Amino acid sequence: MDNELENDPSSESFPTCPNCGMPVVDVTITGPTTQYARPCGCLVHLSELE
Ligand SMILES: [Zn+2]
Repeated sequence: MDNELENDPSSESFPTCPNCGMPVVDVTITGPTTQYARPCGCLVHLSELE
């Protein structure tokens, strides 16, 4: 959204999961510091999704 420096064709417009490297197409937020990346399901922080 605000990071257009990353133009990796394999990730389209989605950030990649810092844990497993899969494209994160959605994030489920369950708390102020608890976000689960989808579809991989890893626990991530939104600040790490770049
Ligand atoms: Zn993951």
